[in-house]
Amino acid sequence: MSHERLTTGSEVPCGVYRCNACAKQIDVQEDKTKLPQCSACGGFAWRTKRECKISDSTQQSR
Ligand SMILES: [Zn+2]
Repeated sequence: MSHERLTTGSEVPCGVYRCNACAKQIDVQEDKTKLPQCSACGGFAWRTKRECKISDSTQQSR
């Protein structure tokens, strides 16, 4: 349940995504960006490496 399988054309929130086939990482800057085809290997399968969480962007402690 922790690993979502994503494919090219899926709308994803901003974050870092990794190609399942070649481990290339892409940076998604905007919400609801459709995942591209992997530019390195032409793969269609991605997994979430890291999500940027907008809801908690204000840092109060520290
Ligand atoms: Zn790839």
